[in-house]
Amino acid sequence: MRGKPKKSPREKDLTSRYLTGGYETDDVDQADEFRARNKTLQQDKMAKTAAMRAEGASAADIDTLPIGEVVQVFSLFSEVQHEGKTYLCVVRRTLSKLADTFLVVGDLVKFRDSTIRDDAGKDIGTSSESTAHPEGVIEEILPRRTILTRADSFKGITQSPIIANAEQVLIVASIRQPYAKWGLIDRMLVAAQAGGLKPIVCLNKLDLATPGEDGQPPADLVEANGVLDHYASMGIRVLRTSVSLNLGLDELREVLKDHVTVLAGHSGVGKSSLVRAVQPSLDLKVGEVSRYTDKGRHTTTSARRYPLEVGGTVIDTPGVKQFGLWGATRENLEEFFPDVAAGNAPEWRKRSYERILESLPAADAR
Ligand code: GDP
Repeated sequence: MRGKPKKSPREKDLTSRYLTGGYETDDVDQADEFRARNKTLQQDKMAKTAAMRAEGASAADIDTLPIGEVVQVFSLFSEVQHEGKTYLCVVRRTLSKLADTFLVVGDLVKFRDSTIRDDAGKDIGTSSESTAHPEGVIEEILPRRTILTRADSFKGITQSPIIANAEQVLIVASIRQPYAKWGLIDRMLVAAQAGGLKPIVCLNKLDLATPGEDGQPPADLVEANGVLDHYASMGIRVLRTSVSLNLGLDELREVLKDHVTVLAGHSGVGKSSLVRAVQPSLDLKVGEVSRYTDKGRHTTTSARRYPLEVGGTVIDTPGVKQFGLWGATRENLEEFFPDVAAGNAPEWRKRSYERILESLPAADAR
């Protein structure tokens, strides 16, 4: 069979072991358990050897190592992109012990290229696409510039990071079907800003709020305009869109162009439709099936990246109901409510502030 060279050292490398499922034991039959355990021990040993070999390499050259971006995280491996190539990487063992959090999508890492090459410098086996893959060992995780977490517990207290280094969050709501819940938008604003990301609020489906018979705008539209104007007065960028009327889509394209943007907002508000309006080939609902996930390897985060043809990337987080308020505390919450701090907040903002304040743990509970 092409792509499976006979008994070559290549068979023992990370990619092929990974692709043949060597590290995934969760779907092993009971009868195979013993064999699987033996196999796992053997694989552990191989991984240790690889890690030790990598550790043996001089740490002094760390400054000269290439910097790549983590684009997908699996249980024991990550995909790291660098200069148009995707490397399948393991984290150096000592590093994974030291790091206080695991790698997440968007992390920038220094990695050592450990691809096996022939004398001409060609990656061995590149002709057999099913197994050939550049490989590396992650030596250092660079400090995160921004962070988004997922709120794990029902109170949103426990948090796990899911995306590092994104620049902005597009918070999408719809005027109707479903109605906008401004209190939840306020919460997403805190999640974005506390993590160092720039929030943008996009109110979609404006075609659904048409004037009544008296020619007057409906009450929910009047309210929504008041809310958006208030956000704008605090320096938050707001967009008004309708996919069906082609309203505000050029502005949306311009906002996304050349930036790394995380999508937020409830299901049904029109996130997929908006992204498809910007780039028709992109279908968030179907999602991008990775070379690995289609072979049963599961990713450990639900962050999915979609490169845009206009430049930039959108990141969707299917299954994440709510972002955590990373870095927000009862003591600093006012920083994210400058209107409340200044005493000129409308009632609905004061209520949001109070509700979020109550949801945050007291200083002595942290
Ligand atoms: P998502 O779950 O946030 O990704 O939302 P979808 O993009 O799947 O949209 C949910 C529904 O709203 C679909 O039936 C869309 O056709 C519809 N929809 C999206 N945008 C608009 C819009 O601007 N106006 C109207 N009337 N419907 C929209």
